[in-house]
Amino acid sequence: MKRIWTSKTPEYLGKKVKVIGWVNTIRSHGKIIFIDLRDRSGILQLVFDEKNEELLSLAQKLRAEWVIEATGTIQKRPKEMINPNIETGEIELYPDSLKILSKAKPLPFAIDTEGYEISEEIRLKYRYLDLRRKRLQKNLKIRQKVIQFIRDFFQERGFIEVETPLLTKSTPEGARDFLVPSRLHPGEFYALPQSPQQYKQLLQVSGIEKYFQIARCFRDEDPRADRQPEFTQLDIEMSFVEQEDILNLTEELFIKIIKNLFPEKKITKIPFPRISFKEAMEKYKTDRPDIRNNKKDKNELGFCFIVDFFLFEKTAEKEISPSHHPFTAPKDEDIPLLDTDPTKARSWQHDLICNGQEIGGGSIRITDPEIQRKIFRILGHSKEETEQKFGHLLRAFQYGVPPHGGIAPGIDRFLAVVLGEPNIREVIAFPKTGDERSLMMETPAKVKEGQLKELHIKVLKKKEKRKK
Ligand code: ASP
Repeated sequence: MKRIWTSKTPEYLGKKVKVIGWVNTIRSHGKIIFIDLRDRSGILQLVFDEKNEELLSLAQKLRAEWVIEATGTIQKRPKEMINPNIETGEIELYPDSLKILSKAKPLPFAIDTEGYEISEEIRLKYRYLDLRRKRLQKNLKIRQKVIQFIRDFFQERGFIEVETPLLTKSTPEGARDFLVPSRLHPGEFYALPQSPQQYKQLLQVSGIEKYFQIARCFRDEDPRADRQPEFTQLDIEMSFVEQEDILNLTEELFIKIIKNLFPEKKITKIPFPRISFKEAMEKYKTDRPDIRNNKKDKNELGFCFIVDFFLFEKTAEKEISPSHHPFTAPKDEDIPLLDTDPTKARSWQHDLICNGQEIGGGSIRITDPEIQRKIFRILGHSKEETEQKFGHLLRAFQYGVPPHGGIAPGIDRFLAVVLGEPNIREVIAFPKTGDERSLMMETPAKVKEGQLKELHIKVLKKKEKRKK
C-alpha cells in the first residue's frame, strides 16, 4: 500500500490509507488512546480502543518520537472532537494494523516549542532533533523557496549559473583563508574561496556576460556572534553594465522575492534610496542606516543602497586597505588621485542594506591591468607578490576584457532579517558555534598520524608551540 502524507488524508475520507511518521503526542485514557502522528506535512490523530484489544495493547507501549506505520480507514471525528486548528482536525484514523519502525530514547529537550529558551550548545549538539522543531522546518522550507525563486528569476533573464572551484587560491575579502594541504604537492596548499570573486570576473573574460551562483564562501574570522565560517551568497556578475544596472536588477529581485514569498511585508521605500557614503555618515552616523519608518514593526523592510564609498580605508591592522576588495574600480575622475592622495579616491562600490544590516556588497571592477597593478602597489604588494597572487587575472585582462561588475547578497543574512530571526544560525541547517566548532560532528578534530604524514604535515605540540 502506498504511503499517504498526513496533510492529504482528509481527501481519503472513508478510504483505507497507510501513514508513517513520528509519535508526536500520546493521550492515554486507559481504554482509549489518542496518538498524534507527525510527518513532514502535518499531524494526524490515530485512535486505538477496545474494539481491537491487540492493537490497543501495542499502542500502550508507544512512546514519544517512536517511528510507526499505521494503516486503517479515515473517519469523520465526532462533532465535539473537531479541532479547527489543524488541517486534519475533522478526521481521524482507526488503525487496523500498527508497526513500530524505530524506538526512541527520551529527547534531550522539547521540540514542540520555538526553542529560543534552550541553550544553543545542546541544540547544536543534537541539531538533527532541533530541526524537528516546527520553526526550523519552516525556515528550511522558506530558504529553499527563496533559492528556487532566485534561480528562476535569473534563468528567465538569461543568466547562467556556473559552479566555481572550492579548492582554489586565496581571494582577499578581508578575512583569513581556510587552507587545504596538497598531498601530491608537498608543502603547497589550496585555499577555500572567501568568495568566487576572481572566478566570476574571469568568466566575464570568457564571454559568459551574465553569471550567477548560489555560492558557498569560507572565511576564517575571529569569533563573532553573527558570523559563520561558511555561508551562502547569491553571487552575481555582469558584463557591459553600469552601477545603476546592477542596483536596478538587485532591487527588482528583492521586491519580487518579498511580493511573492513574504506578502505580509511592507517595503519602506521603492525605489530603494541610493545614499552616498558621505550622506549616510552625516545623517545616520553609519554606513548601514536603518531607514524604516517604524523600527518596531516586524513587517517593515527598509532597503537602501550605499554608494560613493572611498576606495580605501584605514583599519586596526593596516594603514591602507580596500574598503571593499582590491578589484573595485575607482571613479574615473578620481584615478589621478591614485598617484597623489589615494585615500581621497572614491569608488564604484555599492552596499545593499536592509533594516540596518549589510545584506550584500559589490562594485564595478577594474579592467585595466595597469590600474589593477597600481592598486596592488598602493596596498603594499611587491611586483613579484602581485604576479604570484594575481598573475592569472592580470594575464586574462590582456585578452579582451569586457567592462563588468556585480554584487553578492548574503542569503543567510537576508533570510534572518526577513524571518525576524535573531541569528543566521537559525536559518542554516547545520551551523557552527561562534568559535567555529560543530558540536554535533565534533569538528574540528584530530586526524591520524598517518594522514598527517601523507600530507607532509607535522603538528607542533602545545609545549613546542609555546617555546616559539
Ligand atoms: N565578492 C564580493 C563579496 O563577497 C562581492 C562582490 O564584489 O561582488 O563581498
